[in-house]
Amino acid sequence: MRAPVELFLASSNLGKLKEYRVLAEAAATSVPVELALLPEFGSLPAFEENAPTFAENAAGKALHYSRLCEGLVFADDSGLVVPTLGGAPGVHSARYAGVNSPNSQGIQKLLKELHDKVAVERAAYFVCAIALAKSGRALAVVTDRVDGEILEWPRGAGGFGYDPVFYFPPLKKTFAELSAEGKNQHSHRGKAFRKLLAALSSML
Ligand code: IMP
Repeated sequence: MRAPVELFLASSNLGKLKEYRVLAEAAATSVPVELALLPEFGSLPAFEENAPTFAENAAGKALHYSRLCEGLVFADDSGLVVPTLGGAPGVHSARYAGVNSPNSQGIQKLLKELHDKVAVERAAYFVCAIALAKSGRALAVVTDRVDGEILEWPRGAGGFGYDPVFYFPPLKKTFAELSAEGKNQHSHRGKAFRKLLAALSSML
């Protein structure tokens, strides 16, 4: 059995770290990984995530922090894309209803924007981009997406962000109605992270 590869997540978000740990355990690839938050993340010069694409934000963030810290650094960027709204909220998903506004306000704004839209016009997808870097060099950038549609009302109590209004037709449920394991199996983040692990395993 190979020794675990240590990967540092460029984030201060413990919830995100836990989610990636669950994904790493479930993936059970040939490369065991050990995940940790980047030490002293909060005291390092911050990376401004203002690129127009998820991939650029993830890659920029991973490169930035990998120049400041030793080891393998990974960073992600994710969000909801609604083609009818010209791709909004997109890379602005976290701050769609304003900086530091709660998730519920983002959902309310989204439902308002879509109030007169029906059927195919309510199509949406989540995207997740994850980048891996070391010492200022990009080793991998992966992205994936999951397609669904935006309901007219929230449903379910699980998940976070836009999950209660994101309906996933293959399971006939919103992401907020799925267990964490169920969501991980189909989610943009789950699929992108499994791609990252596959890329990592091809490098070793
Ligand atoms: P970030 O990738 O941590 O910057 O997250 C961006 C934002 O996109 C989050 O704050 C959520 O609003 C939204 N988002 C990303 N992934 C998901 C998801 O799996 N479910 C619901 N909302 C998500």
